[in-house]
Amino acid sequence: MDFETDVVVVGAGPCGLAAAIAIERAGWRALIIEASCVVSSIAGYPTYLTFFSTAERIEIGGMPFVIATEKPTRRDALAYYREVVERHGLIVRQYERVEHLETAREGFIVHSRPRGQEVRTTRARAIVIATGYFDSPNYLGVPGEDLPHVTHRYREGHEAFMRDAIVVGGKNSAAEAALDLYRSGARVTMVYHGEGLSPSVKPWVAPDLQNRITEGHIATRWRSRVVAIEPAAVVLDTPHGAERLAADHVYLLTGYTPEHELLHAIGATVERATGIPVHDPATMETDVPGVFIAGVISAGNDANKVFIENGRGHGELIARRLTAMWSDPAASHEAHAGR
Ligand SMILES: Cc1cc2nc3c(=O)[nH]c(=O)nc-3n(C[C@H](O)[C@H](O)[C@H](O)COP(=O)(O)OP(=O)(O)OC[C@H]3O[C@@H](n4cnc5c(N)ncnc54)[C@H](O)[C@@H]3O)c2cc1C
Repeated sequence: MDFETDVVVVGAGPCGLAAAIAIERAGWRALIIEASCVVSSIAGYPTYLTFFSTAERIEIGGMPFVIATEKPTRRDALAYYREVVERHGLIVRQYERVEHLETAREGFIVHSRPRGQEVRTTRARAIVIATGYFDSPNYLGVPGEDLPHVTHRYREGHEAFMRDAIVVGGKNSAAEAALDLYRSGARVTMVYHGEGLSPSVKPWVAPDLQNRITEGHIATRWRSRVVAIEPAAVVLDTPHGAERLAADHVYLLTGYTPEHELLHAIGATVERATGIPVHDPATMETDVPGVFIAGVISAGNDANKVFIENGRGHGELIARRLTAMWSDPAASHEAHAGR
């Protein structure tokens, strides 16, 4: 065994960090293992994004998130969460993916691989899985999806100035990307299988986009699907038949699906219909005692239900449960009786 701790938290997103702080405050050692950088999901947001939440609603560990404006930008949030890690002295092993979890006689063994290195093992008494869902985009599964001008993440519109940009999707990410591309001087077409924009588009974004569509500045192909991507075009299946559109840049903003391999590996049940890991919402413990979930992974396939605002408190529930379990082993047995 290479390392030993009380709790391994898998994932250094805002909710994983908040969980580690709560666990340490309760007196237990927490080690965070992160496949990428700290809050990598936020690092991967569109470059100039402003949060819809106000700063105090996404602060964690009781550390004030003070900004001069109403809502934080991506850059404000990156600086804030870095500061949280430093101030709380959290131990985060970055660029180290957890590949496998295993049950041991006392607790669990975590198998993780630092980038470009051999797998190493860490023994933990409990595990918190806070792996979010941004790692695995919903692939269309069409030919050409891996071409270099195709991306599943939107960063900024400058690259598409005076070029043909296709945005696939009709929800928030697609709506905001289409507007940003238009304002960056791209020729934009939105392609979506729905009848029109999704009703879930933020109320302050939808009218702006609708007006640009009505004016003819952003083209649309509703009830249409991409069936192939070529080096300079996309092929669509539309209600009027096949259509080929010029495409210098293709943004596939069709959402993400959470990965459940680690939960499956440890024997935790995930509801097939919803993608929600079976868990007790009062403790966030899964049906494998000692294995917890935190953050947006608890929302299953409907990622919009849990976000930083309402996922940052999961760590408190977990810490309370750990204290009950480890300070009083009888409580642990009672809590699981009848499951
Ligand atoms: C454009 C955009 C704007 C948003 N704005 C807001 C907002 O204003 N307010 C709000 O509350 N929410 C907002 N959200 C949602 C918010 O980003 C997520 O709810 C939040 O990031 C979830 O936090 P998390 O800690 O559960 O997961 P994540 O932040 O997704 O973190 C999970 C981490 O786990 C790591 N990981 C995954 N697999 C492994 C593995 N096997 N081993 C090790 N590490 C692993 C990932 O690299 C990642 O860093 C927004 C989302 C988007 C896309």
